[in-house]
Amino acid sequence: APAAAPARFGSADDALRTVYGYDGFRGEQAAIIDHVATGGDAVVLMPTGGGKSLCYQVPALLREGTGVVVSPLIALMHDQVDALVRNGVRAGYLNSSQSPAERATVERAYLSGELDLLYVAPERLGSEQTKRFLERGTIALFAIDEAHCVAQWGHDFRPDYLALAELAERWPDVPRIALTATATEATHREITTRLSLGDARHFVSSFDRPNIQYRIAPKLDVRRQLLDFVRTEGRDADGHPVAGIVYALSRASTEKLAAFLAANGVDAMPYHAGLDAATRRRTQERFLRDDGVVVVATIAFGMGIDKPDVRFVAHVDLPKSVEGYYQETGRAGRDGLPSTTWLAYGLQDVVQQRRMIDESPGDLAHRRRLASHLDAMLALCETVQCRRQNLLAYFGEQSEPCGNCDTCLEPPASWDGTVASQKLMSTIVRLQRERGQRYGAGHLVDILRGKRTPRVEQYGHDALATWGIGDELSEAQWRGVVRQLLAQGLLQSVGEYGVLTLTDASADVLSGSRRVSFRTEPERPVRASRSSRA
Ligand code: ADP
Ligand code: ZN
Repeated sequence: APAAAPARFGSADDALRTVYGYDGFRGEQAAIIDHVATGGDAVVLMPTGGGKSLCYQVPALLREGTGVVVSPLIALMHDQVDALVRNGVRAGYLNSSQSPAERATVERAYLSGELDLLYVAPERLGSEQTKRFLERGTIALFAIDEAHCVAQWGHDFRPDYLALAELAERWPDVPRIALTATATEATHREITTRLSLGDARHFVSSFDRPNIQYRIAPKLDVRRQLLDFVRTEGRDADGHPVAGIVYALSRASTEKLAAFLAANGVDAMPYHAGLDAATRRRTQERFLRDDGVVVVATIAFGMGIDKPDVRFVAHVDLPKSVEGYYQETGRAGRDGLPSTTWLAYGLQDVVQQRRMIDESPGDLAHRRRLASHLDAMLALCETVQCRRQNLLAYFGEQSEPCGNCDTCLEPPASWDGTVASQKLMSTIVRLQRERGQRYGAGHLVDILRGKRTPRVEQYGHDALATWGIGDELSEAQWRGVVRQLLAQGLLQSVGEYGVLTLTDASADVLSGSRRVSFRTEPERPVRASRSSRA
């Protein structure tokens, strides 16, 4: 029989105190650890900072053999393993950044039963060679971190993850635990089926981060707005600067914004994948070590950086999805203390992102998926309801208005959109009932605005009773109406082409028993930028 690393501890509490120095488990940790340590499969949905690592590390220490951890973040493996080794855990990793000699040392340790934990990049685990190698040792469990990467519906799909389905067949007796901090119901389902975790127990924690205040503002003069934000949120009660992250989409804008903030007295530094490794490392170290450093970064920054006291996260560009937004804002306030997030969005962002989606490689279904992610993100920006309620609803969680977001604290100006919604809905109903036709948002808006497109002419849609009854709203405003109705479950988008249909709840709006309101944007940013810049 192959050599096996013996169980290191008799009980989870023992491991927790000895290795980590903590007094007790948090939330569902104890239940998850117990389940996996006794051989059960698990799917764990837990927000960032919830303490997922312990959920697979501790069972690995309690079981005979080595815990094999699949993690896509090669850059972090080194740090994670270092931290474990400092705590007396025998850990190693296998990835492409290693020299053959380093790899040989780790492989030898595994085969002779001297490793508690082995981190492996997903593309390695897909290879037959690696699997044969692993078969020569004893595996305590498989942990699949960032499990949402297996979901094609998600925002962070990685093809390498699909090969992980084979683990179940090859090692039917080894427990598997899949973990993620971002999962909508659709992604959750995909994780379960694609990783063959049908018999697993599911541990779903609340995704609420009550100490985080959410704020979203229309983009006007974004540098000025950002500087104001950093000046107010960037200090603690004693006036000392605090740590924060500013996210921007392009490398060039991270550099420009960092320089702008620095010129205005903020200790700011840029961070993106185009900087050399030494510079990136220095920035990261300063951020972790010194007080009050603000990093202006692309989303490459922050993944796995364990800094508990990040006091604010700002986005100067619209994130591509709610999952991404949640993950990035989640890097604030891991210590549970009050923290603020702020996002500036403009229609210019939307135009740009739609173009990127149109030009992106992949099939129509893929582009539709990207577009629906963007729509959900926009719906969050445009909602007149509590941001947190909206955010949690996106992850399938019901909640009450939070009292700690911008819409709760200062209710936004809004307009009654009930009549507009009725116009849209009755257009959908008429097309379906009278002609058996269903359409996506674009054509419906053309009908409402009375636009004579070739399709309108071809199908004689100018004869509909709702033809041209919606020209009081711009096309952009109608798009906003559609997004809000989708976000509120008052419309649904079906199939590959995104045709719109009513839902059960739509009837209340059509009958007038339910009112709908929409956010009044203070200024239409697209017009402002047309006249002032382009
Ligand atoms: P996640 O992977 O879910 O984002 P981590 O596993 O990195 O979370 O844990 C977040 C932080 O909380 C880490 O600093 C970790 O050491 C700490 N932590 C986790 N579990 C506990 C616990 N039971 N008691 C105290 N601190 C904990
Ligand atoms: Zn709120």
